Amino acid sequence: MSNREVTTLSSEETIRCGRELGAQLAPPVLILLCGDLGAGKTTLTKGIVSGLEAAGEEEVTSPTFTLVHKYGGEARVYHVDLYRIDGARDLDTLGLEDLFAEPAVVIVEWAEKLTLRADWPVVRIRLEHAGEDARRISVTDADNILRSSRNQTDSR
Ligand code: ADP
Ligand code: MG
Repeated sequence: MSNREVTTLSSEETIRCGRELGAQLAPPVLILLCGDLGAGKTTLTKGIVSGLEAAGEEEVTSPTFTLVHKYGGEARVYHVDLYRIDGARDLDTLGLEDLFAEPAVVIVEWAEKLTLRADWPVVRIRLEHAGEDARRISVTDADNILRSSRNQTDSR
C-alpha cells in the first residue's frame, strides 16, 4: 500500500492535485472522499474529473441535491454526494450498485456513509482544514494503482 500527504494553500492547488490524480486513474476504480463540509471534496473532484478528461472543471458541481452526477469521456465517471443520505435504508433507495455494473470511475463524497462494498480497486482520500485556505489531503492507495515518484522509474 502506498500513502501520500500534501497540503494545498488554495482551491486552485487542490484542483491541480486532483488533476494529477485523475490523470493516473483508469476504470474500474472507487474513490472515497472523507472530510468535513468545506474541506474541499468537491473542489478536488473538479480536478479529478478534468484530469480524467471526462468534463471541464467548471462543469463539475456538487451533486448535493441530485446525489449522482455522470460525466463521460473515454472513462465513465460518476460523482456521488452522500451528504443528505441518512441511514442504510436511505442509501438503498439510491441504487448505487447500478453504478458498478460496468467499469467506471466512481467518486464518492461523504464516503464514511457508504456501506456498499465493491471489489474494485479503492483510493481513499481524507481532506482536512489546516487553517485559512490550507487543506491537508491524505491519499491511501491500498491497491497500489497510483504512480509514485518511487516506483515511476521501475514501471515499464
Ligand atoms: P466539500 O465538498 O468538502 O464540502 P468544497 O470543495 O465544496 O468542499 O468547498 C471548499 C471551499 O473551500 C471552497 O469554497 C473553496 O474555494 C475553499 N477553499 C479554500 N482553500 C482551499 C483549498 N486549499 N482547497 C480546497 N478548497 C479550498
Ligand atoms: Mg461537496
